[in-house]
Amino acid sequence: MAMTPSPFRNVFQAELDRLKKAGRYRSLRTLDSGTAPVISVDGHSRLLFASNDYLGLAAHPRMIRETAQALERYGTGMGASRLVAGHHRLHEQVENKVAALKKTEGALLFSSGYLTHIGVIPSLVGPGDLIFSDNLNHASLVDACRLSRAEIVIYPHRQGDFISDRLRRIPPRPDTRILIVTDGVFSMDGDLAPLPDLQALAKTYEALVLVDDAHATGVLGPHGEGSTGHWRIDSKNLLTMGTFSKALGALGGFVAGSEITMDYLRNQARTLFYSTALPPAVCASVGCALELLREEPGLLEGLRRNCAYFQNGLQALGMPVPPEGIPIFPIIVGSEERALGLAQALWERDIYIPAIRPPTVPPHQCRLRISLMATHTREQLDILLTVLQGLL
Ligand SMILES: *Cc1c(COP(=O)(O)O)cnc(C)c1O
Repeated sequence: MAMTPSPFRNVFQAELDRLKKAGRYRSLRTLDSGTAPVISVDGHSRLLFASNDYLGLAAHPRMIRETAQALERYGTGMGASRLVAGHHRLHEQVENKVAALKKTEGALLFSSGYLTHIGVIPSLVGPGDLIFSDNLNHASLVDACRLSRAEIVIYPHRQGDFISDRLRRIPPRPDTRILIVTDGVFSMDGDLAPLPDLQALAKTYEALVLVDDAHATGVLGPHGEGSTGHWRIDSKNLLTMGTFSKALGALGGFVAGSEITMDYLRNQARTLFYSTALPPAVCASVGCALELLREEPGLLEGLRRNCAYFQNGLQALGMPVPPEGIPIFPIIVGSEERALGLAQALWERDIYIPAIRPPTVPPHQCRLRISLMATHTREQLDILLTVLQGLL
């Protein structure tokens, strides 16, 4: 291919060199199989412990069957945004099912979790308003907060006290809207936001709590309801967002809350106006996943059994573990070099777990992020534990 002269070329090269030197250069590995405990990646068979398809739904026969039926019936794309000509009956059905799962009056669908945040947060607050954001929040929340142009106060991880101290010290003007934004389950650490504390605080200061349940939906709570199910709190002063791309094995994002909030967001959220609606077939996948969550409790039980088994195994190795039932196991090793070395050693032992480095995690906290699926077998978990024992 011919080299394209570009005014940016030197800048690009310098930045790429810098990333390589810092151990932060990224490249893609190519899968030739679907997502499953064993994948074909870069032409090799590997045990996968890096997927967020926690319940193994992306390969579930009923998911595939119902998605294929919708595909046959409705075709591949919606061709317009929901507000123009892209609002399908299946979108509506999924919204009703999400509202039922989250026990809210309503829900609103977006084409991804990222697009949900980008649409929702700037609709809730703007210049002159105040956002409190946990310092380990997901990048999509960070970006959406920045886009809102509200003042952003970053608080130390899970420390609600910081918020009340700050609000007492510097009382906001009465018309300031206050938004507290947090992951429900933190994506790279697997720990939980102190939602009851944040909700109490929100009540005192008339703030709104926005919880990102990307890793909690389908995972936490008696039936996979997410954070509210786990903490047994109602959705007052609370707005839940989440994604269908993780435990639900598909794609798309949602926000769930009161009907007036949904109505407002339908009229405000720019990613609903200016991005094309999810294909009906994807809605069929999501709808099926939400039904499976109710009808096949064995899926969630399987995930929890795997989490408990692996947790015991890691504890026996002296490793810290996440709260019960969370399928995210970070092994924090420090430097980029160490994390890349471990990932490579695992790769050579037929296990695929990529190194997680800045900006995804803070400097000096590079890690391997192990994620479990309900469909991993005991034998596969044992293989990983044995290999980790040899390497750590
Ligand atoms: C993955 C993720 C998102 C984005 O969801 P997508 O549907 O993949 O765009 C948002 N928040 C958190 C915490 C996530 O882990």
